[in-house]
Amino acid sequence: MNAIRTNVFAKVAGPTAILAAVGWSLWMWPAHFLWVYPASGSLFLWFSWTGEKEIKYIFLFLLTAAGFLLPRLFSQGDTLFLFAGTMAEVLGLWLLFFALSSSENSRKAARERLAAEESAAGERVKDLEDELARYRMHLDSTLARIRDKGALAEAVQDMGLAAAPDEVKARLETLLRNYFPGAAVELRTGAPRDFADNWVAERKIPLLVRDSATDSRLPRGSFGPAERSLMALPLHLFGRLVGFVRASAPEPERFRAEDLRGAELACTLAGVSMENIYLFEKVNELAIKDGLTGLYTHRAFQTRLQEEILRAARAKVPFCVVMADIDHFKSYNDTFGHQAGDAVLKAVAETVLSGVRDIDFAARYGGEEFALVITGAGREQAAAVAEKIRAALEARSFLFGGRPSRVTASFGVAEFPAEAAAAGQLVRAADERMYRAKQGGRNRVVAA
Ligand code: GH3
Ligand code: MG
Ligand code: MG
Repeated sequence: MNAIRTNVFAKVAGPTAILAAVGWSLWMWPAHFLWVYPASGSLFLWFSWTGEKEIKYIFLFLLTAAGFLLPRLFSQGDTLFLFAGTMAEVLGLWLLFFALSSSENSRKAARERLAAEESAAGERVKDLEDELARYRMHLDSTLARIRDKGALAEAVQDMGLAAAPDEVKARLETLLRNYFPGAAVELRTGAPRDFADNWVAERKIPLLVRDSATDSRLPRGSFGPAERSLMALPLHLFGRLVGFVRASAPEPERFRAEDLRGAELACTLAGVSMENIYLFEKVNELAIKDGLTGLYTHRAFQTRLQEEILRAARAKVPFCVVMADIDHFKSYNDTFGHQAGDAVLKAVAETVLSGVRDIDFAARYGGEEFALVITGAGREQAAAVAEKIRAALEARSFLFGGRPSRVTASFGVAEFPAEAAAAGQLVRAADERMYRAKQGGRNRVVAA
């Protein structure tokens, strides 16, 4: 409101007042018309300040006309002198007019230049802001990706610590659920269930379906609305397809190629983790199980013997060690070859194993020698077990070179703690009795 009032005053009231003052003084003292020009100079300055360009032109024109007329009207003597003075003043006013106009023009040009620069700078700022926004978006997605990768690395490490294949599967499932929140994740073993599984099984590579409603690779109606987006991945174990992993969501475009790569990496690592577990178990088994007979090794027997001594001593219950050696085994080898000898060893191991209880322990002690731990049993009871095995072996018939033949073994039994208080002593005592069985004619059990 104030600004408008100031403007009206500047544009209208100001020049009117000056004009009135000039007009009035001319009316009062007509002879002093020469003062009109200096007073007009201040009006020019006023017009220039208020930006009244057109009025300034009209005013200049009027004053120039007045410059020619006034000296004639009011001269009472030296007209030429007055005319020259008036012309000089009119010229002065023209000069003032041009000076003001040119300074105004140059100010205007400078203002326009500044405005142009400002608008260019504004555009540049806008461009930079756009660019910054793009960088921010990129930064956000990069940070999200780094976070994802970090979580993946942690989960992968976690998977590597699993002790059983089922645990690996559970961790893989959890990992994928966390990685794709809201998506359905499923791990399955067995035959392919649908088109996607078959696709994966045939090509042995993962499948990404961005929108099952429009994907031209899929037969019509292959997937329901719950599976608009899906990823199907194979689970491999030692190069064999053992299962399928499925992640699905009801909305299209839920999974990107990058997601498929992440999930594939997780599945591969799950496979490797499971392979590691199997290999570890296998190595452990190889260390404690004999490759030919499947019985425990000599080393496993020693460990078990120590454990059994501690347990029996604590429980104050006896147990026995039985040593067995196949009779004339060398002759089988010599006559029928080592392969036939191996077959005999396997068969004897079977007979030994089926003759002991689950709580007992059967090991291949050396070449064709076996060692048994008969838990919670005294000498008589253990001798009975040995006798049962001896009889079963004797009853079994073997075919060597097409001819039926028999295999027998000799057994020695010793009891802890009655006959020996340490592992070495106990084995030695059983071994001595086994040799006595050999000396006594073989195919027998010696327990005393
Ligand atoms: P004995 O009744 O006195 O025990 O007679 P034996 O022939 O069994 O005598 P000995 O115990 O000295 O012979 C053991 C033979 O067992 C020697 C070796 O050729 C054979 N042997 C040891 N380990 C294996 C094996 O893993 N495979 C085969 N085929 N033979 C083996
Ligand atoms: Mg022998
Ligand atoms: Mg022997």
